[in-house]
Amino acid sequence: MDRDAEVIVVGAGVMGGSIALELAKRGLNVVVIDKLGAPGHGSTSASSAIVRFNYSTIDGVATSWESKQCWVEWSDHVGVIDDAGMARFQQTGMVVLDTPIAPREKVTPLLLAAGVPYEEWDAATLRQRVAGVDTGRYWPPKGIDEPAFFDGATEELGALFMPDAGFIDDPQLAAHNLIFAAQSLGALTMFNAVVSDVIRVNGRAAGVRLENGTVIHAPVVVNAAGPWSTQLNRLAGVGADFSIGVRPMRQEVHYLPAPIGYNVAGQLGPSLADMDLGTYMRPGPGDTIYVGGTAPECDPLDWIDNPDDANPAVTATTYANQATRAARRLSTLRVPTSPKGVAGVYDVAEDWTPIYDRTELAGFYVAMGTSGNQFKNAPLVGLFLATLIERVEAGHDHDGDPVRYVGEHTGNIINLGAFSRKRSFNASSAGNVMG
Ligand SMILES: Cc1cc2nc3c(=O)[nH]c(=O)nc-3n(C[C@H](O)[C@H](O)[C@H](O)COP(=O)(O)OP(=O)(O)OC[C@H]3O[C@@H](n4cnc5c(N)ncnc54)[C@H](O)[C@@H]3O)c2cc1C
Repeated sequence: MDRDAEVIVVGAGVMGGSIALELAKRGLNVVVIDKLGAPGHGSTSASSAIVRFNYSTIDGVATSWESKQCWVEWSDHVGVIDDAGMARFQQTGMVVLDTPIAPREKVTPLLLAAGVPYEEWDAATLRQRVAGVDTGRYWPPKGIDEPAFFDGATEELGALFMPDAGFIDDPQLAAHNLIFAAQSLGALTMFNAVVSDVIRVNGRAAGVRLENGTVIHAPVVVNAAGPWSTQLNRLAGVGADFSIGVRPMRQEVHYLPAPIGYNVAGQLGPSLADMDLGTYMRPGPGDTIYVGGTAPECDPLDWIDNPDDANPAVTATTYANQATRAARRLSTLRVPTSPKGVAGVYDVAEDWTPIYDRTELAGFYVAMGTSGNQFKNAPLVGLFLATLIERVEAGHDHDGDPVRYVGEHTGNIINLGAFSRKRSFNASSAGNVMG
């Protein structure tokens, strides 16, 4: 049966959920469509869900800092208590080891400007604060099959520590919470429903067609399709004026027993970004740690054409690389012979900075290119897209005069032009998942 709506959101991941909620809060008649069976079953389900604040632009830092306040007050933010339970923010602090691709002196002014607390640690402090850490500098990252991987350290590293960082304990549940809240405000959700076409009438979006032939009419369509975003843009016939390309990339995260002394008496150890060796880590459930990669240049990057074709199983090679790097950094980490973990897909923008924008097709908006680093920003992405849609549909020229968003909690002003499809390449980006 065909339907009418005011806004269609394609994708019920953490982004689609947040966008749908903010639009529903504004009283709009929203339909959310997902080809999978439940909220957050796409790339959101594989997320490490780390909440940190070190980004390469002031708008990136301010977005993550404002979003963090929403996670801390999650029930208030979503406005309901989900029968399935509520996702929780776990504060662990985040240690970012020194690296030439995101030097401290470039990051700290941005943290200061946004009001994010931080500490600067020398190697001795790092040793004192992180159990079993090796403070050696091994830059640049190398594959573990390269003999140079085992070369001694050239010097010692310090770190930036952000005490307010942490992670969300269940990213899929967070998406569920958002969709549940949107539903409670009247949003309609359609699962196991594949969008196969975007309908255009008189040069603007007019709805979508599903694979089963159903048509949903709406003057506004939002692409929140995660790593499938470029496929959906093609269906809509948009992308010609994008200055930033976006491609899916497969990634693995491995689960290992936590090193001895990492979590002490129920106190979780810190999350740690180690671009020096090419990994990141954060505490997992049941005295484990999650180990992911920072996509170092020495590793072949697993670009894929179609996210549906991504191998869902972790592989021995990637496990060996990531776990060995982590064990080099954390000397008490023991590496089991068989890998456990999860494979997921990033939607990578060329400069690892997301695109939250309108497009050349009136009424067609995108929240895409999240580049493995935007889960934490989902609360704000909902607010960004709702604000953008409201302003642009009322006639505002966002391309010429970018909309500014004022953070309710921090008061920081965020220039949404920083996430424009037409922006200049973000040359300050670390060029990897750190953004
Ligand atoms: C391994 C991994 C680790 C990560 N770690 C972190 C981290 O530590 N911190 C952080 O901030 N971020 C992290 N991220 C990034 C973050 O998880 C993602 O940016 C975020 O989850 C993307 O959410 P999304 O809603 O855009 O996409 P998705 O969750 O993929 O949702 C998109 C949805 O669209 C649906 N869809 C697509 N096409 C169609 C169609 N044609 N018809 C109907 N439905 C369609 C899909 O089924 C899917 O459910 C990580 C990502 C991965 C993969």
